[in-house]
Amino acid sequence: MPISGLPPYETNNIFARILRGEIPSKKVYEDEWAFAFHDINPQAPTHILVIPKGAYCSFADFSTEASDAEIAGFMRAVGQIARDLGLETPGYRLLANMGAHSGQEVPHFHVHLFAGKPLGRMIAE
Ligand code: 5GP
Repeated sequence: MPISGLPPYETNNIFARILRGEIPSKKVYEDEWAFAFHDINPQAPTHILVIPKGAYCSFADFSTEASDAEIAGFMRAVGQIARDLGLETPGYRLLANMGAHSGQEVPHFHVHLFAGKPLGRMIAE
């Protein structure tokens, strides 16, 4: 069910519960700013979700409310994960859904990291 991506933050959303360890996930990375795990319904051979540790509903919320340190730490973590997994060659795709028209389903900001095959067109018809 697509959601607005706008505050208020829903503290019991599925990614908040994964961050708190209440729901299991296949973790690939964690540091002060970010947590990454495999998507439960992968859309590519590699499909990882990277989420900030802070409580942000979407990119709209994160980009306005997060501190410079949180934004820098999170973005560096995304790059580090791709590097650690050896994805820079032959490449990967990042995607962040925000709001109803994007189809955002989980109201905690996340970046999808896709890789492992040629990924085709940017937007499905
Ligand atoms: P969105 O549409 O919000 O950008 O993406 C949400 C993503 O979260 C989807 O790709 C979906 O498969 C994934 N997802 C939803 N629930 C869970 C879960 O409980 N565990 C994991 N690992 N992924 C989930």
